[in-house]
Amino acid sequence: MKNPFENAMSQLDKVAKIKKFNPEFIERLRQPDRDVRVTIPVKMDDGILKIFEGYRVEYNNALGPYKGGIRYHQNTEINEVKALAFWMAIKCAVAGIPMGGGKGGITVDPKKLSNGELERLSRGWVHRMSDILGPKKDVPAPDVNTTPEIMAWMADEFRKITGDKTGAVITGKPLKKGGSEGRGTATAQGGFYVFEALKKEFNLKDKCNVAIQGFGNAGSYAALIWSEAGHNVIAVSDSKIGIYNKDGINVKKAMEYKKKTGSLSGFPGIKEISNEELLEVECDLLIPAAFENQITDKNANKIKAKVILELANGPITPEADEILFKKGIPIVPDVLANSGGVTVSYFEWDQNLKGKHWTEKEVFKKLRPILIDSSNKIHNNSKKYSTDLRRAAFILALERIEKKMK
Ligand code: NAD
Repeated sequence: MKNPFENAMSQLDKVAKIKKFNPEFIERLRQPDRDVRVTIPVKMDDGILKIFEGYRVEYNNALGPYKGGIRYHQNTEINEVKALAFWMAIKCAVAGIPMGGGKGGITVDPKKLSNGELERLSRGWVHRMSDILGPKKDVPAPDVNTTPEIMAWMADEFRKITGDKTGAVITGKPLKKGGSEGRGTATAQGGFYVFEALKKEFNLKDKCNVAIQGFGNAGSYAALIWSEAGHNVIAVSDSKIGIYNKDGINVKKAMEYKKKTGSLSGFPGIKEISNEELLEVECDLLIPAAFENQITDKNANKIKAKVILELANGPITPEADEILFKKGIPIVPDVLANSGGVTVSYFEWDQNLKGKHWTEKEVFKKLRPILIDSSNKIHNNSKKYSTDLRRAAFILALERIEKKMK
């Protein structure tokens, strides 16, 4: 299997074959503007000094300040961060917001740290990166395993170092610390708006059977939003286990259960299945909402979903993409499907800079038309260029970035 950055570049190659862009522009997009790696020393609770590796990749800022989350994971490495930063540049352009693409991370299993260690590590990351961050330069956000509380520590550290009091250096903060209403559910809610906008193109029935991989921020809220809209969520999973019930899972109860016990294992009235089985469940809509590279050439032929909507970033490898295309399974790509998250992040930045606070209703009222407009433009591109939605989305994004770079 290729690394995520090689996958991202192979997506770029495919798009450049469909629409002629200036070759120098495509060449420029093969490397990030800047790729920063730092070491972060942290005094652990037992008094021993531990050194962690941290990253920030600033991919492209033609449309605005670099924007993108910070991931804490034991497998996080530079190629993953570069791929995610590239996708952020595409995603911000797809959404049509004035932000560029960036991404950060630390190689760490945060579950093995105490709260104090986690705070020192997070403040350490900002300390080492403070020169390149800033509301008009580079604006991070949460990603896998990073929380509003971590964002608040980071914003506070940046304020201490630079004196910047706007809080606009980072988004995804808690509400009391300048966060935006609606940010917690924005990714899943945005995915739902996109689904609604494109549903008629897929000939899906009104009430769909939905399977969701991942039960964190993106996955659990997606399960809740789809089920509250009357769809039947038949399978969900976390890193340990998948649960299945052909008549539908009570999502609210599953969320409460997971919160209480830390896992979906043992949830009553369901059949336990593996994560592999979850992806292969017969359903109308499959939503990968966990990690990248989950659907590969090994399992793509076994997928029985009618449509896939990618809430996770990069969950389908390029090889699997080809197989699914041949099988006639449409894929709503991550750069469109999960762009609600970054759009509300942009709203937070905008509110911080203007000293405003919008209600949740205002936030979603602004979000919906943006995602519907992007969905329609991408659908039109897919017809115009006789291609899939992923390439159609990349074409829209590359056109917008190229125009600005010129
Ligand atoms: P999260 O940490 O809240 O949740 C991740 C979930 O995946 C957890 O339920 C975890 O148990 C599960 N998981 C881990 N390994 C798994 C495996 N091998 N198989 C199945 N499940 C597994 O993270 P999140 O914020 O929900 O992010 C999930 C994905 O969505 C990531 O790809 C992220 O980049 C993407 N995304 C998130 C947002 C956002 O706003 N949260 C925005 C855009 C994209």
